[in-house]
Amino acid sequence: MVSGKCLCGGVRFSVAETPKTVGLCHCGMCRKWCGGMPFAEFEAEVVLEKSETLRWWKSSPWGERGFCGECGTPMFWRAPGIPQWGVSAGALDSAAGMEIAKHIFIDDKADFYNFADDAPKKTGAEHTAEILSRLAAQFGEEFLRDALQKSREFHGEQFAAEVKKLMGNNSGNSNNA
Ligand SMILES: [Zn+2]
Ligand SMILES: [Zn+2]
Repeated sequence: MVSGKCLCGGVRFSVAETPKTVGLCHCGMCRKWCGGMPFAEFEAEVVLEKSETLRWWKSSPWGERGFCGECGTPMFWRAPGIPQWGVSAGALDSAAGMEIAKHIFIDDKADFYNFADDAPKKTGAEHTAEILSRLAAQFGEEFLRDALQKSREFHGEQFAAEVKKLMGNNSGNSNNA
């Protein structure tokens, strides 16, 4: 069990699990949002205890970012229809003992810092291919076609082609998460 809140306390949440790891996102959007996002990793769903100042902003064709409209703390990422939210490790009341499990969107990383650990590092296309393989196994082919189309619109033709190629290479492993 872990709890978290924004700076002003207008948004409070809990998760019936204690996350041990974070996935660090180096994408340009997370960088603009908060300098680069450490997402706490867990399977349980987020329970909102208090949410009157919570605002959602649609940041891509598939995802929304949740933040406090009062104090501005970045807090969540979610994709409608998918029960697990990404949760900012910085919004947790305690991050004691948490370690880096992986880095994602490393091809988008800013030049002003360096990696100092051996955690696995994935490009945006590698990460997207992994996520889509898992979601396609769960939600089916139509979901996948739609997701690839949105990826093409948002990240461009080259990115979507790379994702498709990587997913082809991973076929048979689509349940790996
Ligand atoms: Zn707040
Ligand atoms: Zn990101």
